[in-house]
Amino acid sequence: MTHPELRPRPPSPLVEAADERFAAHGVRLLLKRDDLVHPELPGNKWRKLAPNLRAAVEGGFPALLTFGGAYSNHLRATAAAGRLLGLPTVGVVRGDELAGRPLNESLARCVADGMRLHFVSRSEYRRKAEPEALAHLLAAAGGKGAYVVPEGGSNALALRGCLELGRELRGMADVVAVACGTGGTLAGLAAGLAPEQRAVGVPVLAGGFLAAEIRSLQQAAFGGPAGAWTLAEGFHHGGYARVPAPLESFAADFEARHGLPIERIYVAKLLWALTALTESGAFPPGSTLAAVITGRP
Ligand SMILES: *Cc1c(COP(=O)(O)O)cnc(C)c1O
Repeated sequence: MTHPELRPRPPSPLVEAADERFAAHGVRLLLKRDDLVHPELPGNKWRKLAPNLRAAVEGGFPALLTFGGAYSNHLRATAAAGRLLGLPTVGVVRGDELAGRPLNESLARCVADGMRLHFVSRSEYRRKAEPEALAHLLAAAGGKGAYVVPEGGSNALALRGCLELGRELRGMADVVAVACGTGGTLAGLAAGLAPEQRAVGVPVLAGGFLAAEIRSLQQAAFGGPAGAWTLAEGFHHGGYARVPAPLESFAADFEARHGLPIERIYVAKLLWALTALTESGAFPPGSTLAAVITGRP
């Protein structure tokens, strides 16, 4: 029997954003309101978690264990999903210096949703993919036998969930753009688009090996490359969670223009990138862009 929370959800809304900065270049901007895909679990975190939750529930696993930093959206979404499904969750948090200190708002929400937190040192956290280190962690965190979801939630099943997002956008836009952390959302989304569409990812972290990671995620999920995608580099604004003043005022202005709260870590950087690329003539007149609003503040 499928839990009602795990039934397929209707497509998230796709709405036009009238914006003169795009209109001046003959470009239409659409917003894919994936922040509205689930009332409690916004956007891509739901897309990525849902197939994993189904696997955990159907496989009869006693708990779900995953990993994240102290401000991880993925940890928060996992905790909320666990509460909705009645599935115990364990969160392994990077940074043992946090243990015994007052919790920040994000971690406090995880605990309020019933997640058990287990703090580990940065070096232990780095080794979490090694089988021996993971087995030790599972035992120490009280997550023996748990269904394990990787950091950021991007595994092969997660990509399948994001493929649905691409399918919902078939025929709707020439270019579909999304902000990238692990790149899992872009990797799945690109695979679901129609052949004439292309996906553009905007990395929010500086440096890294994102293109290679996306290729290996697609290899694991689909057996090889899938869909047309590129990365628009140079819009990380100094790195993860950095919000310099110009980006802050861009986001506040976008909120005022379009009446939409803008999540700063990912969505603001995506919208900035699309605005800058449009203003530099990157998209031919007559193009339609769909920006995926992956979450809310
Ligand atoms: C986690 C997150 C992303 C990044 O998704 P990846 O699949 O890791 O690239 C984008 N937007 C929001 C709002 C997120 O919370």
